[in-house]
Amino acid sequence: MTAEFVIPVPGVPSVPVAGTDARFPVHRIYCVGRNYAEHAKEMGSVVDREVPTFFMKPADAAWPHADAPYPPATTNLHHEVELVIALASGGTDIDPARALDHVFGYAVGLDLTRRDLQAAAKAKGNPWDTAKGFDASAPIAPIAPAAAIGHPAAGELALSINGVERQRADIATMIFKVPEILAALSRLYTLAPGDLVFTGTPAGVGPLRPGDAFEATFPGLPALRGTMR
Ligand code: MN
Repeated sequence: MTAEFVIPVPGVPSVPVAGTDARFPVHRIYCVGRNYAEHAKEMGSVVDREVPTFFMKPADAAWPHADAPYPPATTNLHHEVELVIALASGGTDIDPARALDHVFGYAVGLDLTRRDLQAAAKAKGNPWDTAKGFDASAPIAPIAPAAAIGHPAAGELALSINGVERQRADIATMIFKVPEILAALSRLYTLAPGDLVFTGTPAGVGPLRPGDAFEATFPGLPALRGTMR
């Protein structure tokens, strides 16, 4: 018997996969905060090398389109360029030594942030959800399969706005590397196929305004190019 639903079933958010017409279905979006020392410093945060800071965005925040809508309720939208992990399988208590076995591929993404709302939330000790988890808050380029490109442990992540470079850092300088991130997440959540993990942003975060063109790059991955509308 086919289940009946009382309203139309929402669609599955998805991201293109480079080199194919197939798409990657998004299950959850996890994000790492303060994963580059220089960014933690610019935010006035203490660098915690013991435990990663995690937060989430809704799955349908994934935005695989060139034009990104400028969100309501902010006058200080910030860009955060990040390497994104896409999982083919999951589990709990994942051994860091086996963590890469779960990775489908990698992409370049932006963790768009309502910095004004985040600052207000931090000041009050409130959650970050409205600052981080809004509609279209996770622009993402096509995912490159690890089967094609391997598992990058180094390489320069960069972001330009209107042709001017704003952020650049080697992912080798991440405080928590991909295997450690997946292991730590899997001690808090059951990771699953379709999960995306934004791995944190380097220093140089700053405002994005309507009309700004962004270009985010990482060697071997499709670039993320778009415009704030
Ligand atoms: Mn971020």
